[in-house]
Amino acid sequence: MRLNYDAIIIGSGPSGIAAATELKQQGINNIVILERESQAGGVPRHCQHPTFGLLSFKRPMKGGAFVEKILSLSAGVPVMTNTTVVEIRPEGKLLVSCDKGLVEMQAKRVLIATGARETPRHPRLVSGLRPQGVLTTGALQQFIYLNRQKPCRNPVIIGSEIVSFSAIWTLRNAGIKAKAMIESQSRITANRPLSLFPALMGVPLHLNSKLVEIGGLNRVEYVVIERNGQNERIECDAVIFTGEFTGENTLIRKSHLDFIANTGCPVVDTNGRCSDAAYYALGNMLHPADMGDQCYLEGKVIGEAVARDLHQVSGAAINRIVIQHDNHILFTAPGCVDKTAANSQFNLNIRVKQAISGQVTVTAGSTILYQGNHRCMPGRRIMLKNVNAELIPLNATEISVSIV
Ligand SMILES: Cc1cc2nc3c(=O)[nH]c(=O)nc-3n(C[C@H](O)[C@H](O)[C@H](O)COP(=O)(O)OP(=O)(O)OC[C@H]3O[C@@H](n4cnc5c(N)ncnc54)[C@H](O)[C@@H]3O)c2cc1C
Repeated sequence: MRLNYDAIIIGSGPSGIAAATELKQQGINNIVILERESQAGGVPRHCQHPTFGLLSFKRPMKGGAFVEKILSLSAGVPVMTNTTVVEIRPEGKLLVSCDKGLVEMQAKRVLIATGARETPRHPRLVSGLRPQGVLTTGALQQFIYLNRQKPCRNPVIIGSEIVSFSAIWTLRNAGIKAKAMIESQSRITANRPLSLFPALMGVPLHLNSKLVEIGGLNRVEYVVIERNGQNERIECDAVIFTGEFTGENTLIRKSHLDFIANTGCPVVDTNGRCSDAAYYALGNMLHPADMGDQCYLEGKVIGEAVARDLHQVSGAAINRIVIQHDNHILFTAPGCVDKTAANSQFNLNIRVKQAISGQVTVTAGSTILYQGNHRCMPGRRIMLKNVNAELIPLNATEISVSIV
């Protein structure tokens, strides 16, 4: 088993596969993708809706077809499946669990593309018992599309992000009708026209409603929701928690890499480079959860940047300026700018904590790098395009993002 590589990519989702493909095309051949699952492809493997491919291949594709396509373009980059990275160490060293046991692998550059996950029950602090039948959309899709099993008959869906509607659709494909969709806000999180979708599917949508209890001894039997100050009981056999994505950051939080305190995502510059220059991060682990196509295209850009880095004879000095933000904003990706990097412009991906519409301004000292009006919803991608890095003053120590 080979243990030393030019580049190791952790995660074989769209971003990891794209970065590996690009590295190979740029002449970096000594590379490997490490994947903890038994098959490559990441989340799209179990997303059987035709919501992939439009940006990358100009046609709608189901998740499975999208994975086949991107793997076919990867020019045979090896993927080691059933292989989990359990620790990230300085100098590109990784502790890896595989069929040989625990081994240390090392690469000149490591790309972290571990994706995102939905928030499960435990951190949502819902009271009640702990019966079977509580799952996420991802788990639901794996039951239905990968294992051909029906995990429930009349579930309730919690949340109203795009993925929540995907849960209704997934259930429908298995002949299951959701009992209700529950959203604590006064409107759905996804685009408003989607609020017609539950009605079309015969699923009642309860807005301004909060899940307060899950009942049932062995199996979920009911939930209690609070609506207009009243508690209401809904009989059901499962609860599907949807959305509220967080980056898969377990590795990062216990590593030596700088990370954003409230999200656990590594602080990267506009090329995806982490605080340890041997490490890069990309895809949904940085900005949970963008679409598969967006992550695939991002992976190609980061792969190219890593290849440039590896081809460089002597590494240029790094001069990172941190990107601060006001309290409306949950995170920015990237989290800093390397002044010595060649980017004259960069795109800034942000998320907000609460719905807010207003002018988003990016400044360095008193210089405005970007200004634009945005309607921002929590959980939705907001992309500030072409932030002008050339305007950053030489003596700038900080970049700020605010919404007014
Ligand atoms: C439930 C759900 C439904 C979605 N539906 C859609 C949709 O319909 N359309 C769409 O465009 N997008 C959808 N998305 C978003 C889409 O999945 C992502 O955009 C895309 O998969 C992100 O790619 P990625 O490579 O960043 O991460 P992922 O696809 O999540 O891949 C990350 C990979 O890293 C592996 N990994 C994680 N940790 C380790 C480790 N320590 N060691 C080794 N391997 C590791 C994981 O097993 C996984 O294979 C959905 C996401 C979810 C969660």
